[in-house]
Amino acid sequence: MNDPMMPIESPSSGEFETVEPLQVLLYYNYTPITDAETFTVEHKEFCDSLGLRGRILIGDEGINGTVSGTESACQAYMDWFASDSRFMDTEFKIDPTDEHLFPKLSVKYREEIVALHLGEDDLHPRDLTGRHLSPLEWREALKAGSPGEDYVLIDVRNDYESDLGHFRGALKPPLNNFRDFPEWVRETLADKKDKKILTYCTGGIRCEKFSGFLRQEGFEDVSQLHGGIINYGKDDETKGELFDGLCYVFDKRISVEINRTDDKRVVSRCAVTGEPSVRYVNCALFSCNGRMILSEEGEAQFGRFCSDECKARAAAGERSSVEVPGATGEPEFDDR
Ligand SMILES: [Zn+2]
Repeated sequence: MNDPMMPIESPSSGEFETVEPLQVLLYYNYTPITDAETFTVEHKEFCDSLGLRGRILIGDEGINGTVSGTESACQAYMDWFASDSRFMDTEFKIDPTDEHLFPKLSVKYREEIVALHLGEDDLHPRDLTGRHLSPLEWREALKAGSPGEDYVLIDVRNDYESDLGHFRGALKPPLNNFRDFPEWVRETLADKKDKKILTYCTGGIRCEKFSGFLRQEGFEDVSQLHGGIINYGKDDETKGELFDGLCYVFDKRISVEINRTDDKRVVSRCAVTGEPSVRYVNCALFSCNGRMILSEEGEAQFGRFCSDECKARAAAGERSSVEVPGATGEPEFDDR
C-alpha cells in the first residue's frame, strides 16, 4: 500500500521548476510630482527592472496604475512607495493572479491621471473632495434609505462598465467617457444639490475628482466609496453586499466578482439572446474591438461581433480574431 506521506517519484524528480506566484496591484495617489515627465522615464526603468507589466499614468497631480508581477517584484514595488514621502500613503489593492494581466509595460505622462477635463475649473482632490466612506459606512449609508428618494447614488463609470454590474438602485449615466460627466451632472442633477449624494467607481480614483467637482458645483452632502468597488468586494464584513453583477476591470480578466453573499443578481444580458449573461468580450474585428456582453450561445448564433457591419467586414477579409475563442484585443486603458 502506498504511504500517502511519501512523495510520488516522477521521472523528472529533482528538476522541479519553482514558479513564483503572481499578483496584480491596483493603486493611485493624488500627490504632487515635480518634473513628472522625468519621473515618468525613471519610473518606467524601475518597473522594467522589476519585470512588472501593466499600465501606469503619471501626471503633475499624481500616479494611477495597475501592474502585475511576481510577489517579490510587487513587494519591492510597494516597498519603494513606502520609502518615498510623496507616495508612502498609497493604498494598494492586491489580488493573486495566475498569469500576467497585460501584454507589456506602459508608463505614460499625462496632464491628468484621470481625464475629467475640467480646464480652468480643475481641482486637486487633496484640496477638495467628498467625504470618504469605508465599506461598512458605505453599506450603512445605502441601507439607511432608498436610492432615488433618500439619496442619489451615482455610478461614476462608463456605461459599458456599469452595464456589467453596479450597486442596486444606482444612477448609471449613459456615457462612455469620464470627461462627459460634468455636463451630465449639470443637465441631470441641477435640482439635487441639497440631496445626499453617494458616488462610487472601480478603485476610487475617479470619485476623488468627481466628488470634488460636485462640491465645487454646490452639492452640499457628497460622500464617496473609499477604495471603490474593488476594496468593497474585499471587505470581509460587507462581503460586497448590494453590488449586483460583476465589476469591470481594465486588464485581461475583464471582470471580477464582488458580491460574496447569497443575495446577488445578474444584471447584464447577452446582446444576441437577451438572456442573463456576464460574459464580456471584445468584438473580434481588430479595428473595432468594441465591448459587448455575449453568451456562448449568442456567440454560436451570431459570431463574436458587435454589429452586422463588423461581421460583414470580417467576412470580407478584414483582420479579426474569430479563430481564438475568448481572445480579446488589447483592453483599452481607462481610468479607474
Ligand atoms: Zn465591432
